Amino acid sequence: MIKFLDLQKINAQYAAELKQAASEVIDSGWFLMGERLSSFENKLANYIGSKNAIGVANGLDALRLILKAYIDMGVMNEGDEVIVPANTYIASILAITDNRLKPVLVEPNDSSLNLDIDLIENHITPKTKAIMVVHLYGQVSWNEKLSALAKKYNLKVIEDNAQAIGAEWNGTKTGNLGDAAGFSFYPGKNLGALGDAGAVTTNDDALAKHIRALGNYGSNKKYVNEFQGLNSRLDEIQAAFLEVKLKYIDAENQYRRQLASLYLNGIKNPDIALPFPENTVFEFDKNQEHVWHLFVIRCKQRDKLQEYLTANNVQTLIHYPIPPNKQQAYAAMNHLDYPLTNTIHDEVLSLPISPVMTEDEIQKIISILNNFKA
Ligand SMILES: *Cc1c(COP(=O)(O)O)cnc(C)c1O
Repeated sequence: MIKFLDLQKINAQYAAELKQAASEVIDSGWFLMGERLSSFENKLANYIGSKNAIGVANGLDALRLILKAYIDMGVMNEGDEVIVPANTYIASILAITDNRLKPVLVEPNDSSLNLDIDLIENHITPKTKAIMVVHLYGQVSWNEKLSALAKKYNLKVIEDNAQAIGAEWNGTKTGNLGDAAGFSFYPGKNLGALGDAGAVTTNDDALAKHIRALGNYGSNKKYVNEFQGLNSRLDEIQAAFLEVKLKYIDAENQYRRQLASLYLNGIKNPDIALPFPENTVFEFDKNQEHVWHLFVIRCKQRDKLQEYLTANNVQTLIHYPIPPNKQQAYAAMNHLDYPLTNTIHDEVLSLPISPVMTEDEIQKIISILNNFKA
């Protein structure tokens, strides 16, 4: 079986360094809010190019805390609207509703599967305070029109960068394009911890300070609480692991691109649509560097294709099977209809791609796919 993602193998590459980092933290006797966290935060800010990076407990918290800080700071109020792509992972939307803000779902673009920036303006109302872009599957969701819109309507742009660490648009890294960004270091993400972890990056010092306090009971000074905060901290041990793995992220992302180009050039089956429209493979957006967190194909007979791949020992996943607005958790949004989002959820299939796969494995999957008959 070719596994979808072999986390054991991914971390085995760095086992000696990871074990060393763990020993150092154990021996230090200091487990939270210490030197390992500051050191990782500095390295992350430096890597992204942002003035601030704040380690938090996970990616969902990163996004929740950005919005909570904006509410505390008076930038937005409960009931205000945040524009977000309808086909995102539910965490983006949970961060909005958890803060009693209203998610305004907008359809993605049929080729990029990222937020259709051309549709945004029609959804802007006097209550709109932010746009949350999601760099889904590792692909940048950004253009000049988006920044112009944000400026015109005085909107904050929040990046959900959970899937795209290392991606770039015109030489600027995702996480440094908008006003603030949330990162996830969930083990399966391109930069994965050995447990839960996340971060916020921003160039706004006041926002950074506020988020830092909010994640630590609303306190900047022990036992002095300025805000009603949460407990959302990035453990020293996870920070130490992440600092080890951050060194390798560019090489790993580069290898993902190499594997992705094998898929893009090798899959030739009229029943399978590649991540970019036909014939425009490398011209889709010359400004961006994709990091291929996921390699997502589309097929009208998706379930049949998935069964066929399983029968041929290739493990695949679906990102995602049910749109957020069709989930029971969002019963009040179940009546809303996003036709393209529905179609995408019926057609997408994620193929194995990871820094520990071999080119041979990819070629094997390509030939299996080319023999598929819908
Ligand atoms: C993984 C992910 C999150 C949430 O991250 P966690 O660390 O699991 O909380 C948010 N948004 C997107 C798009 C994700 O893929």
